[in-house]
This record gives sequence, structure tokens and C-alpha cells, in this order.
Amino acid sequence: MQKVLIADKINEKGIDVLEGVAEVVNNPTITPEELLETIGEYTGIIIRSRTKMTREVIEKAKNLKIIARAGVGVDNVDLDAATEHGIMVVNAPQSTSITVAEHAMGLILSLSRKIAIADASVKAGKWEKSKFMGIEIRNKILGVIGMGRIGSEVVKRAKAFEMDVIVYDPYISEEVAEDLGVEIVELDYLVQNADVMTIHVPLTPETKGLLSKREFEMMKDTAIILNCARGGIIDETDLYEALKEKPELKAGLDVYENEPLTDSPLTTLDNVVLTPHIAASTKEAQRDAAIIVAKQVAEVINDEVPSNVLNMPRVDNETFQRLKPYFKLTNILGKILVQTTSPNIKELNIVYSGKITGRSKEPLTRELLKAFLNPILTEPVNSVNARAMAKQRGISLTEGETDSNSKYDAVIKITVKTDDTESTIAGVIENNIPKIIEIDGYEVNMRPEGLMSIIKYVDLPGTIGVIGGIMGKYNVNIGEMQVGRKTEGGEAVMVLKVDQEVTDEIIVELENTKDIHSAKAIQI
Ligand code: NAD
Repeated sequence: MQKVLIADKINEKGIDVLEGVAEVVNNPTITPEELLETIGEYTGIIIRSRTKMTREVIEKAKNLKIIARAGVGVDNVDLDAATEHGIMVVNAPQSTSITVAEHAMGLILSLSRKIAIADASVKAGKWEKSKFMGIEIRNKILGVIGMGRIGSEVVKRAKAFEMDVIVYDPYISEEVAEDLGVEIVELDYLVQNADVMTIHVPLTPETKGLLSKREFEMMKDTAIILNCARGGIIDETDLYEALKEKPELKAGLDVYENEPLTDSPLTTLDNVVLTPHIAASTKEAQRDAAIIVAKQVAEVINDEVPSNVLNMPRVDNETFQRLKPYFKLTNILGKILVQTTSPNIKELNIVYSGKITGRSKEPLTRELLKAFLNPILTEPVNSVNARAMAKQRGISLTEGETDSNSKYDAVIKITVKTDDTESTIAGVIENNIPKIIEIDGYEVNMRPEGLMSIIKYVDLPGTIGVIGGIMGKYNVNIGEMQVGRKTEGGEAVMVLKVDQEVTDEIIVELENTKDIHSAKAIQI
């Protein structure tokens, strides 16, 4: 059983996930020296922020496939070193989505009903009922800026409060907006029309100062503005001026340009609620982070692709879900190709068609390279280092897309060229099952699994019988057979599923038999 080290204290529900999957060593007080000494034994490590995965540690981690950070940031992991060594680094950004969304709702209610200042007033011995007249949020317009993981959760909750939701997010598809029943609008429209606006975008050069003087001037005098995303997306100086100028304007902030927040004039205002970057701090978020990363560790141990790999090009969740069924297919196609072509590959061409086109297919391409290169390289190839390894081998990789005019939802077709050969294989997913539909231009239809053999022969009466005879002579039982040909009497291809291994001896005999052009043994 492969070993996983839990090097920081994580919620025990995460540890439960790994039961039966790996041998878990729970050592949340491990010292840096002990870590250096023992890291070579482990396939996976789960950390929070205490353990530092430095280059020195990573270089000693000869068997490590995954570093899992039970949380969001990965400042304590040398990402470059991990990538160079083909080690995946994963985290759990989704663990905090609901927690942060609930915090945003808390800030909205706190501001609309003046809860924080009313609380301070009562605690100061006062009873100022008339001072704290609030507003309902029902039927008010909520403007959500950024509808990713957290923004979407805010939308769901706001709908329960009967708010009307408008969204500004130029990167989401209409399908996603439709699913959540929201209207996509331009930023200026949102700022002018929202009664409450809440920010859930990353801090980027594009989003820095997204709400500044110009926007504060445009918005309703009674608007509520929230930032639970990152400091700097709202210009704090401009916000302070606006809040001073318009006493009915309100702001709820959890994040700041400089943290911790000290000496900010914002602390002097009644129309703001400030929290110390705690939007993500709940017990449930910590538990979920532990479970999410432990599941990803289990996925890597089971040779699957985890969803939050940070040191691979990322695709959004919707794209990832769309591609997910095709990972197995690409993996199988890669495995078949590597067993049927000669090793001196010069070119690898992948063409995607159908419903998987139009978006990044990078994870699928990497899955293919992984399946293709692993059996031929000594150094482990995974989705992190797959491209670099292909390049090192001098394999030229090309990728393309075509419009689909086939009967299948989506087709993946791969061509491999060596100096003197060219092989093609195409596959589809049908009822969630991978199928091969073409081999070197011959139509077939077979579910690839277990032991198989692909034989090319001359389409003449009796050849199929001869092949069956040879298999029988060696006690190989044929479980399933598919044949395909382009012309009668020309070359044909036979794909067999067999119950026993097609040994080298059988391959040699087949290839030395009249009218049999080639024979390959395959193990999926
Ligand atoms: P996400 O990646 O799931 O979603 C971000 C969304 O922003 C995406 O839909 C993207 O299309 C959109 N976006 C990107 N650039 C944009 C732009 N210029 N204009 C409009 N939309 C844009 O991220 P998430 O997990 O929902 O996190 C959202 C924010 O919350 C991040 O800034 C994250 O760092 C922050 N966060 C804060 C806390 C906290 O403790 N306060 C905790 C977790 C996350």
C-alpha cells in the first residue's frame, strides 16, 4: 500500500477518506529534519501552513506524486520545484465557497438592519430604537461582480431572500447564467442599478480599483457595497470619501489593501461593517478542506486526475466536468497506441471534434501524453510534467479541432508518426463507456478492456479461421471479435478481446503466417 503523510493537523474526516486507500502516517508535529529524512517513503503529503515543502524537501521526495494543501493559499510550497519533479500540488479552493457566501449574506443583513451599530449602542447602555430604522432586502437588486464558486453561492442564497440578481462577469457562459437564473449585465449598468453589490473576483491588474471614485459617483446614494474577495479591488480612499459624502451609502468589508487594517479612517464611520479577513473561517470549511484534499490524494493514488491541480494549466470547473468522461478514453487510446507503434515516435497529432471543442482540452492532451509516455520512460510521467517529457523526447505534438459530422457526441482521434509508419486510432464515449471506433482508417466498434490483440490481414476466405486456429493452438480463448475492412479482398483489421495473454511466441507465429501483415498484443 502506498504511504501518505499527514504533516499538519487536519480534520479527522479527511483522514477517514484515505482509509483503505493508503497507509496513513498522521504526524502533525513532524520536524523539518524528520520530514527531510522520511519524505522519500511517501506518495502523498497533506499539509496546512506549518509544514514547508521547500526545494530541498521536494528533491528528497523520490516517490511523491502529490502535495495537498488543506486550504486555499500554497505559499509554503515551492511550486517550481514540485513542477520540475512532476509532483502535483493541489488545494481546496471550493472548501470556503459557502462559508464566504454566508459571510457576505451576514454583512448584507448587518448593514441593511444596522445590526453591528445597534449592538454597539445597546452594549453602550443606550436604547436608540428610532436611530436604527432598516430596510428589507426582499425585491432589492443584488449586483454580483464575479460569478465563480463564491459568487454562485451568493446568488443562490440571495434568491432565497427574494432578491433580484444581476451579474457582471465577462467570462461566464450564458448556459451558467441561465442555470442560475440571473441576468448578465455590463459593470456600469450593475453599479447604477444595484441596491447591493458584492465582489467575488480575483485581484488582477484588470480588477484592481474596479470600484473607484467614478463608480461611487454612479451608484445609488443608498447602495450597499461588499468586498469579501481581495483588498484593492475597491479603492479604499475613494470608498471612504464616498461613505463620508453619502451617509446612506454602506459598505461591508472583510479584506483590505493593507492587512491587518490599522489606522484606517474607515474605522471611524458608522455606515461600515468591518471584519478581520474571516470570511473563510468556519469549522465546516476546515473540515471540507481536509476532505477535498484527501479525496484528491486518493484520486492520484488510484491513477485519476484530481480537479484542483495548481501546477498544471487550469480549466474552469464547467470545462473540467465536460472533459471528465474523456480522461479515461484518452488514457486508453494512448495505452493502445504505445503498444501498437514503434518507439521512435516523431509526431503525435490529436484532433478533437464534437462537444468537447471550443474550450481548453489541455488536461486531456496531458492525459494522453501520460498514458503514452509512461510505459516508455523510466521517470514517472504525470499530467504535470507530461508536456516537458514529450518535448525532451523530441516528440512534436500538434492539436486540432474539427466540426463533428459523425453520429457521436465527440470523437478523439490520434495519429502517431515514426520515420516510416503512421498509425491512427479514434475513440468515443458511448453511455459513459470508452469505445474504439477506428483503427488506421478501418471502422471498428469495441469497448477496449483487459487483454486484446489487433491483427492486420488480407481479407480472404479462411484467414480469420487461420488466426482463430493459431490462438486456439496456444489455448487463447477469443471472447469478442470485430473486423473492419476498406475494400473486399484488401487489407482488413481484426480487434480481439482475449481471455489469456497473447504472448510474443503467438505474435511471431501470426506475423510469419501467410496473409497476416501484423499482430500486436495489448493490455489495457
Ligand atoms: P472563482 O475563480 O471561482 O471565481 C472568480 C470569478 O471572477 C470567475 O467567474 C471569473 O470569471 C470572474 N472574473 C475574473 N475576472 C473578472 C473581471 N475582470 N470582471 C468580472 N468577473 C471576473 O473564485 P472564488 O473561489 O469564487 O473566489 C472569489 C474571490 O474570493 C477571490 O478573490 C478569492 O481570493 C476570494 N476569497 C476570499 C476569501 C476570504 O477569506 N475573504 C476566501 C476565499 C476566497
